[in-house]
Amino acid sequence: MENSSNFIKSIMKEDLEAGKHDKIVTRFPPEPNGYLHIGHAKSIVINFGLADDFNGQTNLRFDDTNPLKEDQEYVDSIKEDVKWLGYDWDELRFASDYFEEMYNKAVLLIKKGKAYVDDLSADEIRQYRGTLTEPGKNSPFRNRSIEENLDLFERMKKGEFKNGEKVLRAKIDMASPNINLRDPVIYRIAHATHHNTGDKWCIYPMYAFAHPLEDAIEGVTHSLCTVEFEDQRPFYDWVIAECETENKPRQIEFGRLNITNTVMSKRKLKQLVDEKFVDGWDDPRMPTISGLRRRGFTPEAIREFVKETGVSKGSGFVDSAMLDHYVREDLKLKAPRTMGILRPLKVVITNYPEDKVEMLEAENNPENEEMGTRQIPFSREIYIEQEDFMEDPPKKYFRLFPGNEVRLKHAYFIKCEDVIKDENGQIVEIHCTYDPETKSGTGFTGRKVKGTLHWVDAKHAIPAEFRLYEPLILDEDSDGEDDENKTFLDYVNPNSLQIIQGFVEPNMQDVKPQDKFQFFRHGYFNVDPKYSTPDKPVFNLIVSLKSSFKLK
Ligand code: ATP
Ligand code: MG
Repeated sequence: MENSSNFIKSIMKEDLEAGKHDKIVTRFPPEPNGYLHIGHAKSIVINFGLADDFNGQTNLRFDDTNPLKEDQEYVDSIKEDVKWLGYDWDELRFASDYFEEMYNKAVLLIKKGKAYVDDLSADEIRQYRGTLTEPGKNSPFRNRSIEENLDLFERMKKGEFKNGEKVLRAKIDMASPNINLRDPVIYRIAHATHHNTGDKWCIYPMYAFAHPLEDAIEGVTHSLCTVEFEDQRPFYDWVIAECETENKPRQIEFGRLNITNTVMSKRKLKQLVDEKFVDGWDDPRMPTISGLRRRGFTPEAIREFVKETGVSKGSGFVDSAMLDHYVREDLKLKAPRTMGILRPLKVVITNYPEDKVEMLEAENNPENEEMGTRQIPFSREIYIEQEDFMEDPPKKYFRLFPGNEVRLKHAYFIKCEDVIKDENGQIVEIHCTYDPETKSGTGFTGRKVKGTLHWVDAKHAIPAEFRLYEPLILDEDSDGEDDENKTFLDYVNPNSLQIIQGFVEPNMQDVKPQDKFQFFRHGYFNVDPKYSTPDKPVFNLIVSLKSSFKLK
């Protein structure tokens, strides 16, 4: 990871200098039980970024040892998302391809007297395990002979027992102060079809046993994971030592990424999808990589954001406004600027000739001249924003009101002469006059006005849909944690999506899905790949222009 020095990088450097490894090998190991979210982006940036720093290697490894929750759809989406973030894996691996080797390692442990088949139920195992303050108790099956264990484990594999009837446990120490070392379960029975191995297996290794073996098999040198796994490290090392693997990977933990107002657990995200709070995993409100992509966030912005959050052991909360900051930075020079009216109000310019249409020149991005200019039509009827007119304005309102003059961006000064209402007193349209002397670009200095409004030509504008978003979860700090009275679903924001109909400039006819624009005075928008059509573009609000976030 360029420009960020961190403790993991220092460890890698020392290990290389001490001659422990010829090259650094890392892996990104998602379980294909959901779509990737922005938290995973942190793990991706760290694993790929650090290996790159040392010209090393990174594998994409699907940690698919649990047949019950995994699915090909997730495998495909994860590959797409990693690539989109800008990373290329050296090898694509599936943990399930190692089931045979893992099984053999389990047999080795039995032969060494380091593992046994237990008949206790899951509940009983939990009761026997003890607590943080009390040691556990040995299972009555703990002292089975090696021969009996070998026979029972083989019969587990053959499918002679039902789910939960037996498990294989590591034989370590039921009194260990680290509960993870109190004879953890390493194999369980699950009569289920696996997305990769089909019905070949009915016993599956547990994550804590499988993961170190996967790392060892692939020659991973540094196995990077989040801090919750710190207490698992002694068992990780136990597996590597007792299974006598050739490679000796080392586990290093870093702090999880947490973001305010953002739920980041696949289980919860899946619940939002399954219970239809959102329009799929790629709903623009979701913190998934596919949701952020559809909303309009860029890989560059996500990578910069993640790098800025840094690599440390701590996992504090990061302000979601910081991600917005990085997308604004990224789009500032890249996104063309244009005008869109979100809530239209018609303005008739009464002294402008009926049939005349003139083309006005507009810069595509005043901060980036290379983006050139475009021509926009102007004629007698235009739309402005409803909020840019007030019949009875407060002090310091510099937009349009009866008798006031404002500038139309790229066009002329107009002055409000009359307000036309229907029989119910609702405003129908505004009548203005324009001053031909004030044309934009002609250097007019005769008088000044305080307000500049955006507009589109009514006859030529294209109808467009705008989708405006607020945070999906209204719980600042707690990732919507469940407590006794509430689940995170109680924090779902009922107003997280607002759909409105407006107009955009006629040159927006040719927009393509995922094109990004800055609509003058509104913010950055992305063309929605799902709902946008050539006849009616649909724009997702990525971020507004205003930022409440200040980078330290
Ligand atoms: P979740 O709890 O959201 O389901 P997970 O950790 O179970 O996530 P995995 O598929 O096992 O999901 O994760 C793949 C990798 O991504 C792991 O190494 C995991 O530690 C890392 N990861 C997941 N969430 C975060 C996060 N919020 N910050 C940093 N890394 C994360
Ligand atoms: Mg997991």
